[in-house]
Amino acid sequence: MNLMTANAAVRYDPAAASPDLLVAAIRATGYDAAVPLATTSPLDEAEARDAEQQQEFVALRRKAAVALGAGAFAMVASIPLMSGAGSRTTIDPLMHAITMRLVPLANRAAPWLVAVPHVVITWTLLVVTLAVMVWAGRHFYVRAWRALQHRAADMNTLIAVGTGAAFVYSLFATVAPRAFTSRGLSPDVYYEAVLLIIAFILTGNALEARARRRTAGALRALADLQPRTARVIRGGIESDVAVASVQSGDEVLIRPGDRLPVDGAVISGESAVDESLLTGESLPVTKRAGDSVIGGSINGTGALRVRATRVGAESMLAAIVRLMRDAQGSRAPVQRLADRISGVFVPTIIALSAVTFTVWALTAHDAPMMRGFAAAVAVLIIACPCAMGLAVPTAVMVATGRGAQLGVLIKGGEALQRAGDIDTVVLDKTGTVTAGKPVVTDVVVAPSSRYTSDDVVRLAAGVESLSQHPLAGAILAERVGRGLVPGVVADFQSSSGLGAAATVDGHAAAVGSAAYLQQGSVDVVPLEADAARLAALGRTPVFVAVDGALVGVIALADPVRATSADAVVRLRSAGLAVVLLTGDRRAVAESIGREVGITTIVAGVTPAGKVAEVARLQRDGHVVAMVGDGINDAPALARADVGIAMGGGTGVAIEAADVALMREDLGAVADAIALSRQAMRVIRQNLFWAFAYNVIAIPIAAGVLYPSIGVLLSPVLASAAMALSSVSVVGNSLRLRNALSP
Ligand code: ADP
Ligand code: MG
Repeated sequence: MNLMTANAAVRYDPAAASPDLLVAAIRATGYDAAVPLATTSPLDEAEARDAEQQQEFVALRRKAAVALGAGAFAMVASIPLMSGAGSRTTIDPLMHAITMRLVPLANRAAPWLVAVPHVVITWTLLVVTLAVMVWAGRHFYVRAWRALQHRAADMNTLIAVGTGAAFVYSLFATVAPRAFTSRGLSPDVYYEAVLLIIAFILTGNALEARARRRTAGALRALADLQPRTARVIRGGIESDVAVASVQSGDEVLIRPGDRLPVDGAVISGESAVDESLLTGESLPVTKRAGDSVIGGSINGTGALRVRATRVGAESMLAAIVRLMRDAQGSRAPVQRLADRISGVFVPTIIALSAVTFTVWALTAHDAPMMRGFAAAVAVLIIACPCAMGLAVPTAVMVATGRGAQLGVLIKGGEALQRAGDIDTVVLDKTGTVTAGKPVVTDVVVAPSSRYTSDDVVRLAAGVESLSQHPLAGAILAERVGRGLVPGVVADFQSSSGLGAAATVDGHAAAVGSAAYLQQGSVDVVPLEADAARLAALGRTPVFVAVDGALVGVIALADPVRATSADAVVRLRSAGLAVVLLTGDRRAVAESIGREVGITTIVAGVTPAGKVAEVARLQRDGHVVAMVGDGINDAPALARADVGIAMGGGTGVAIEAADVALMREDLGAVADAIALSRQAMRVIRQNLFWAFAYNVIAIPIAAGVLYPSIGVLLSPVLASAAMALSSVSVVGNSLRLRNALSP
């Protein structure tokens, strides 16, 4: 159940229930529900929800304004009621004090007002109050009633009981004043208190609705990135069509300055494309034929022809919006405390309120019933648990939204909380610290081998043609660069983190680390010295064997990303331990480590070894984030407390990790951790204030300070304070919108 995005996932037995029955059951509790259409995209959903929230805000604002106006009118109209009996006790000490101040003023400025018969005033106020309760406050009473029918109580119960009690008392005093006077009580009415309590609570709700809508701002901004139309070329004819009707495979024309309507691959043209809103990468990226582009990014000054690949709900933008929607409604573990307290809160408050009434009624010297009644109402009104309910979800919402703007997709409250606790960051080398785009630098042929350097490249490339490893791409590129013809490949086998083997042109070829070839009893000693020399230069040596005999070593250099060294400095200064973890040789890892400033290095480990290393750190009491490129590091990502995938926008990586980085930049890791820490700080502040507010305000409202220093809480003031507490919690969360801005 996701209260922020108003979504619920339900598992049901089709033999016993149906979506329509479920909807009917929810409606019976006083809330509304609808089955989402399978055809609506997450983008449309976000839009519809936004329109709904805006409507809710406008409606609440109107009701609050009318109730405030009626409350002000009631205050003025109550002046003449006070002018006679100066000793009138009241349900609301604050209102009483204000009105008493106004009495002499009214006597002088508007003597006619004071002359209006009291019956006329009380009956007018009765009608006005009833009208406001029915029109503006109806939902409080309806929901409280429905909750009661289900033997539940919520914040509406507190408001309904509080204002309802004050109203019923006033109603009797208006209709049958003699019943009061004959018992020596004065027939006072408290319509102004009822009206102002409703007005303040509605004002608080309106402000909260507006602020809550703003917490979804980042999500909405993402949904807004989707253009409405696309210029498609079909059968040689250009035409503008609705984005929803673009098919995968369509040719789409992107004009300068256009927002890209779909994901695709560039067919022709060249242009710098601004992807900052999706990836957080601030510089535009140059796109040429063959490059992939993301829907929602902004084209620069060139024109592009693009072949649509992923459209509609499949698109990256839709995937991100969906992910954000799920993330934003997910629960953070800290929420559990707030949930547990909220669960018993309302019944506890009602009991406290009853105790308050009883104690006052039995002990107060003057007007005991009256005072007991006032304090009981104040307790009910001040104790609304709304701030507690908002403390965590609003912060999760804003923080994950801010993350999306920075190119950091945090997959929900739990990931956010764990990321805030990280003390150790383990970095994969290839594709994480380095660009993951290695190039072949050296080819060394084994002494006494009958193969040439070209043969070594050709045979190795044959094996690698079926591999997904970054090194494989580089060796293939080298073959193409040398203009060598591809071989015939069969029986491909790969060992993750070690190497790969296949039959190439009838020969059994193997490519990989020394350990990998040694597993196949190949003697690597003849080239070990060369490999060590190359590794010391920071180049990764891979050995090539044919028919069980070593034939050569290919060295590959993978340049360190320009941003890596700065990112390591940032991680370090945030107090984090940084570890470089790689399947590559120690010498290569040390050379890369020197370049970026990492001294703790674990090298030569298999993917299973990476998992073991993460587990070892955890056993030593560390909270570990593993940063990898998402595919071959998957087990270690899963084992770590927080798995961070350098996605660069591949769908797999986005789905797999706790945190997916849309930007190929280690700086995003530092951003993710810093943002999570800030969010957790805000959450703790929110929870602290929401609790502290209740712990302090409820006893005051009950009157514990009255015997010693004569302080009582006015119910009207209580309703204003309650509204303010919710608004301040949401406001505090909204500060995260500017987190990490330069
Ligand atoms: P990293 O930890 O740096 O991401 P991997 O665990 O993916 O590296 O690989 C570790 C080592 O295994 C590489 O340095 C390389 O020597 C060898 N290796 C793995 N796969 C291949 C492959 N397809 N071709 C050649 N060598 C490979
Ligand atoms: Mg790797």
